[in-house]
Amino acid sequence: MSGLGADRSQSMLEAILESAAGAIIAIDENGIVHSVNPATEKLFGYAAAELVGRNVNILMPEPDHSRHDGYLKHHLATGERHIIGIGRETHARRKDGTIFPIHLSVSGFLVDQKHYFAGIIHDLSARTRLEAEIDRQALLFQTVFDHVPEALLIADPSFHVLLLNPAAERLLVGSDETLAGANLETIFADPQEFVHVGERLDALGAAREPATAPMMARLKGPRGETFPGEVIAAPISGASGMRTGLVILVRDLTNELRREEALLKSQRLEAIGQLTGGIAHDFNNLLTIVTGNLELMDELVTDERARDHARRAQQAADAGARLTNRLLTFARRRRLEPQDVNLNDQVRVMTELLQRTLGETVQLTTVLAADLWTARVDPSEVENAVVNLAINARDAMPNGGKLVIETSNSIFDGQAAGPEAAIVAGDYVRLSVSDNGVGMSRETLARAFEPFFTTKPPGRGTGLGLSTIYGFVKQSNGNVTIYSEVEKGTTVNIYLPRRRADVRPDAQRQPVWVTTAGEGMTILLVEDNPEVRAVALGRLQRLGYGVIEAYTAAEAISILESDAAVTAVFSDVVMPGGLSGFDLARWMRANRPELPVLLTSGFAEDIARGDEPDANQPPMLRKPYTQAELAKMLRQAMVVHGKR
Ligand code: ADP
Ligand code: MG
Repeated sequence: MSGLGADRSQSMLEAILESAAGAIIAIDENGIVHSVNPATEKLFGYAAAELVGRNVNILMPEPDHSRHDGYLKHHLATGERHIIGIGRETHARRKDGTIFPIHLSVSGFLVDQKHYFAGIIHDLSARTRLEAEIDRQALLFQTVFDHVPEALLIADPSFHVLLLNPAAERLLVGSDETLAGANLETIFADPQEFVHVGERLDALGAAREPATAPMMARLKGPRGETFPGEVIAAPISGASGMRTGLVILVRDLTNELRREEALLKSQRLEAIGQLTGGIAHDFNNLLTIVTGNLELMDELVTDERARDHARRAQQAADAGARLTNRLLTFARRRRLEPQDVNLNDQVRVMTELLQRTLGETVQLTTVLAADLWTARVDPSEVENAVVNLAINARDAMPNGGKLVIETSNSIFDGQAAGPEAAIVAGDYVRLSVSDNGVGMSRETLARAFEPFFTTKPPGRGTGLGLSTIYGFVKQSNGNVTIYSEVEKGTTVNIYLPRRRADVRPDAQRQPVWVTTAGEGMTILLVEDNPEVRAVALGRLQRLGYGVIEAYTAAEAISILESDAAVTAVFSDVVMPGGLSGFDLARWMRANRPELPVLLTSGFAEDIARGDEPDANQPPMLRKPYTQAELAKMLRQAMVVHGKR
C-alpha cells in the first residue's frame, strides 16, 4: 500500500476484507477475536458482534484447537516462523455445531508492539465430499471388478492390457503369471482372429457404438490349451469424446456350446425316433397280417414243400418282428417292465456268459460298488444293454484288451453341465462299460446313437445296439453318455433311476397259466383294419371262442349296451371315429366293470403308457403277436376278473 495515504490504505484494506471469498479472522496473542469479515459470518453462521471479544476456540473443535493454539504459543515463545504463513488442513465448527473441513493459513503481525494473528479460512467440505465420492466409486469399481464371475480386462487404446480381474487371471493365464502390460493379442490362439477383433475395436470409436457385438474366437487358457470364447469390448471415452481405453469382457463358451450340441443331438434323435416309431408301427400291422395268414395256411396246406415255404416266410416275419421290436425300443415305445433290480447281482450273473462270448483275448473285470442302490428298471433290457456294450467293446479291441464293467451310485443336483444335464436331478445308479479299444472319432461319437449308424462292414454291424440302449434308458427316465478317445478307449455310462423309497417292491406275481380253451365264451373283437381283424378273428376262433366283431369303439359300446352275451373285449387302441381303445376301456370300467378287456397296439405311445403298473391300466398285447401270446393274455385278463 506504499504511496497511498494512511486513510486511503485503511479503507482499501477494509474493502478487500469485505469482498474476500475466504473467511478472514484476526485474533490477538490470547486467542481473542478482534475482527472478522462478512465471509466469516456466512461460513460460520455467527454475526460479527457475536464473535468479536470471544475466544477463537468456539470456531474450532478439539483436538484441532489445542494443537493450533500450541503452534501459536510456540511461535510466540521462540519466534520460529515455520508454522506461520503455511496453510494446513484442519477442522472448524459452525454456530449450529457442525464440524467441517477447512484449509487454514495464518500470518502474524505486530500493532503497537502487540502480536496479532490473521487466519484465512477456505471451506473444504465440497472438496472432501468429492474425494469421498471418488473413493466410494473406486471401491465400488474394485469390488465389482474383483468379484464378477466374468473375465474383464482393461486395455489402453493400443491394446496393451493395463488391468485384469481375478476371473480373467483364472480364465486366461492362471495364477502364476499376469497379462498386465502384454498386448491383447496374446490371449488369442490364432493371431489372424485377433486382427479381425482389432479392426472391430478400431471401428468402435468412429462408429460411436456403446460396445461391439460378441465376437467368437479361440482363446488361450492357462495351461496352453485353447477354448472357444466370446469377446465383447466397450470403449472408455474421456470428456472430450476421445477414446482413452477399452473394457474387454471375455467369456468361456465351452459349456454353452456343449449344451447346445447335446440339445441338438437329442432333438435329432427325437425326430429320428418319431420317424422310426411310425414305420415300425405300420410294419407291425403288416407283420401281424403276414403271420396270421401263415398260421391259417399252415392248417390248410398239407403239401410238405408248400409248408416249407410257409415256414421260411414265418421265419422272415419273425425276424421282421424282432427288428421292429428294436426300433420301437429306440423310439421309446416299448412296454417296459420295470422292477427293483440290484445291478451288481445282474452283472455277476452275466460275467461268466460274457467272458465266454468275448473270448480269451478280452480280459473282463468288474468293479461293483459295495453299497449300490437298487435301480428301477426292466432287467431284461439291462441284460440286453450289457451284452450289446460288451460286444461293441470286443469289436473295438480286435487284438484283445481290457473290458471293465463298473457300478456306482451317482447323484445329480441339477448343476451338472454337459450331456449329463439331460437328466432330472436325483439319485441314479450308474452302470459303466469301458474298453481300451480304438475309440470313436468326433463324427462317430456324434452319430453313435442313431439307429442303423454303424462303422462296421455289412453283416457285422446293424447300428441298432446303441440306439436301442438309448431308447430304453430314456424311456426308463435315465440317461446314457459316451466318453471316448481315439486310440484310447470308450466308456459308456448308463444312469438308471434309483428305486423311489416309497415304491414298495413288486410282489413277484407269477402269471397263472390256464390251459383250457375258450368254449362257451364270446369275445367282442374291436378292430378297424379288416385284414388285421380277419387274422384276429381266425385266432380267436381257433382258440375256441365265439366272436362278435365291431369296427369302432362306438359300435362296440352299442353292442355292450345291447343284451348280447359278451365274456371279454379284445380291442385295438387306435381306431377311427374319435374313440380309442383306452376310451372304450374307460367306458367299460364305468358301465361294464365286470367285463375283462385286453387292448392291442403296435403303436408307440400306447405301449409306453403301460410303463408303470397301474390298477386302471388295461393289459396291453403288443403287435405283432402270436396266437399263443393272445391266448395267454386273454386268459390272464379273465383270471384277473375272476372269469375262470
Ligand atoms: P453296431 O455295433 O452294430 O455298429 P452300435 O449302435 O452298437 O451298432 O454302435 C454304433 C457305432 O458306434 C459302431 O459301429 C462303432 O462305430 C461305434 N461304437 C460303439 N461302441 C464302440 C466302442 N466301444 N468303441 C468304439 N466304437 C464304438
Ligand atoms: Mg453294437
